[in-house]
Amino acid sequence: MADLKTLLDRHRSFAEQFDGGDLKIRPRLSTILLTCVDSRLDPAHVFGLGLGDALVIRNTGGRITSGVVVDLAVLSVLGANMPGPSAMRPELVIIQHTDCGMARLAGPPVQQQLAERLGLSNDEVAAMAVIDPAETVKADIERLRETPQIPDALVVSGLVYDVKTGAVEQVVAPAPLRPMT
Ligand SMILES: [Zn+2]
Repeated sequence: MADLKTLLDRHRSFAEQFDGGDLKIRPRLSTILLTCVDSRLDPAHVFGLGLGDALVIRNTGGRITSGVVVDLAVLSVLGANMPGPSAMRPELVIIQHTDCGMARLAGPPVQQQLAERLGLSNDEVAAMAVIDPAETVKADIERLRETPQIPDALVVSGLVYDVKTGAVEQVVAPAPLRPMT
């Protein structure tokens, strides 16, 4: 309750100064960012995004999950059918980070508790962990490549954000998911 009051108090000045009512549903950048929910990695701050700039998907770890696959399929179909001079062809940037809380899924007691909560094996929970973000970004891009619902032409890249320095490192250069025929 106290937090909600804080949020609404902060929101008041936002609403008073709001002038974005004419923003279009189509964002200025044809980029979808996938990031962790971590409060230190807010893409609006890290990448200077304003309202109407980009689509953002956030989950625990910034991982490719079955839910993210559904989101990407929805956005791909919506983008292809967007009215306007040309279809929107989004690119995906996956951003994971150092010191991710998801590292704790690699060992007890978190792994065991989450396995019981979700009805998963310990190995399945361990696979959700982010210990070396450069490696999990690459693994997630590989998972996307093996997911037929995601189009060949989707350009995907991978970044790692360092929570100590505030800098991002590109660990996977942007490229179409699969060779175009
Ligand atoms: Zn995280």
